[in-house]
Amino acid sequence: MSSPSPWRGRLVCALQLAAPLLSAAAGLTPSLQLQPRHDGPSSSCKAVPGTPGWPSPQDWARFNESLAGRLLQPPPPGAVCHSGQASYNATECPAVRTAWSTYEFHAADPISVDWNQWANDSCLPQEGAPCSRQGYPVFVVNASEARHVQLAVQFARKHNVRLVVKSSGHDYMGRSNAPNSLSIWTHNLRGLQTHNSFRPSRCNVTIEGTAVTAGPGTSMWELYSALDALNQTVVGGGGKTVSLGGYLTGAGHGLLSPWYGLAADQVLEMEVVTPTGEIVTANECQNEDLFWAMRGGGGSTFGVMTSVTMKTFPTPRLETVDLIILTTNVSDPRPVLDMIAYVLSNFPSFGDQGLSGYSYFSPAITDPDLGGNTTIGGFIMSAALRDSSPEAMSRLWDPVLAHINATWPGLFRAIPRPASYPSFLAWYRDHYDQSTAGADIYLGSRLLDKAALTADPAKTAAALQRWCNGSVAEAFLVSGKGVFDARPRGGGNAVLPAWRKSYVHAPFGAEAPPLDPAAALAVLEQINTRVQALRELAPDTGAYVNEASLLLPPDWQHAFWGSNYPRLARIKRALDPDDVLWCTPCVGNERWRQVGDRLCRVSGHQH
Ligand SMILES: Cc1cc2nc3c(=O)[nH]c(=O)nc-3n(C[C@H](O)[C@H](O)[C@H](O)COP(=O)(O)OP(=O)(O)OC[C@H]3O[C@@H](n4cnc5c(N)ncnc54)[C@H](O)[C@@H]3O)c2cc1C
Repeated sequence: MSSPSPWRGRLVCALQLAAPLLSAAAGLTPSLQLQPRHDGPSSSCKAVPGTPGWPSPQDWARFNESLAGRLLQPPPPGAVCHSGQASYNATECPAVRTAWSTYEFHAADPISVDWNQWANDSCLPQEGAPCSRQGYPVFVVNASEARHVQLAVQFARKHNVRLVVKSSGHDYMGRSNAPNSLSIWTHNLRGLQTHNSFRPSRCNVTIEGTAVTAGPGTSMWELYSALDALNQTVVGGGGKTVSLGGYLTGAGHGLLSPWYGLAADQVLEMEVVTPTGEIVTANECQNEDLFWAMRGGGGSTFGVMTSVTMKTFPTPRLETVDLIILTTNVSDPRPVLDMIAYVLSNFPSFGDQGLSGYSYFSPAITDPDLGGNTTIGGFIMSAALRDSSPEAMSRLWDPVLAHINATWPGLFRAIPRPASYPSFLAWYRDHYDQSTAGADIYLGSRLLDKAALTADPAKTAAALQRWCNGSVAEAFLVSGKGVFDARPRGGGNAVLPAWRKSYVHAPFGAEAPPLDPAAALAVLEQINTRVQALRELAPDTGAYVNEASLLLPPDWQHAFWGSNYPRLARIKRALDPDDVLWCTPCVGNERWRQVGDRLCRVSGHQH
């Protein structure tokens, strides 16, 4: 989700321990979605195996030849642990089980995804769990050049096969996987080329300043490391293996975004395979609508990005503090909530003074690392100033800590750990997202503007109780002046306009036991209650589409894209008249719905 998440990691651990018990109590039942029912009217559905519309073995063989053998039919990655499966391998199984919680495992596998529910929990590497291919794509194109992507799009279009795009498989919304589909795996579309200045193709302008052209499968860690060798960096995310494809098509926030703008704001040019199967360049001088939509309009909707050129920056020196403000006296939650609300009310002013960072808080949480029965409440933050000084950091925090001491004498203990880092990469090595994957995790989130954070701290404190819901909540100070004043090339981009006035992205996650639809629904409803507290606090913002709740409000299009939605929907219709690319929640997806494991037209939307 983002950079440091000490509490979240611990919370997830605790929930993981409880998950098998919950699952056993509930019995193994089919999961939340994608139950295999072929009851859609087949003529108006995408083709599925075993029905007449599905391409013949000869079609697939010819397709594979055209790809020089890059068509894969991978077994479910968890199948090595299931004795009934062809790929069963008792020796490999323990390693897969261990690696299942790492982001690296899912990124390196052609079909695996981080969050088990998106493969319908259909082949977990656990004893006693069911295992089938039912939750995964049928075929995968292992693309290493734009031509492979083009062939895949053309094949899916011609044969009416559902098409998905997977890069790392990190998507919290489940957009990078689908059953009965052909998947384009963009992980191996890599490579980096740096520029001292950049002239977009067919433009008469040269854009001054350094830039990098990268493949969409490039991970944050690769990008940061390569650029650091040149004393440069880029706006990127907290997870090492998050890749450019999904990250910047959704918007892309990071520690550097309050200073330089969102990742989507840095893009100078893209190469894209369109849903009609053309390889095009999109920039401010050609394919301008596509260029606008691909920067914030969401992944796998308007085309498949096969390379991107984005601005880079001289790496800043970072003046940082890792700050803990805690109490063990949590019998009365009121002062803890008031303290957290007070600290959050300083965020807009902190942001205006150049602070960026990630905060985590809870009125009361029992921390397993403290022996399991110590309950603590308070606030933790990793904060940074760019090219600044320890004195400047103290000038920000000293009055806040003094106010806390004066208002709640003796209640809280503040432990600041200041540090200076010579580069962004040096900071990132200590602060990258160290959470884990391989569970059924659902998110909720909301952007918080100045009014939400400052207008009425008592109201914020009241909202905090529901927002935290006995767990940990997060407020990422990842927007601010750089995002408000960003000047994306071509006069704008499709990023949700609420980013331009919000300081905080407030996500949180919760885990459900696998194979238990009722429990998953209960978790989603709980998340919705928490998000509702934030909607009431910030009624005029919206949510970041890459890290949001699945129980979509009726106006989800507005929540994710605001006033940009009508233009995005028009562009989608023009670029993808046949809905070759379809996902949810994605622009223009209203004409189709998932019926069991099929994708079918909504009646009244025949063409
Ligand atoms: C550990 C972790 C840390 C994170 N930290 C941050 C953070 O700091 N800031 C932030 O903004 N977000 C963060 N995220 C969220 C991240 O932005 C989303 O998970 C995003 O969807 C990941 O993109 P991906 O390409 O890596 O993943 P995928 O799951 O492979 O793809 C995500 C979506 O993009 C589409 N897509 C992928 N490649 C392409 C392409 N080439 N062309 C078109 N569509 C494509 C997919 O079809 C899917 O719809 C984090 C996520 C995780 C798991």
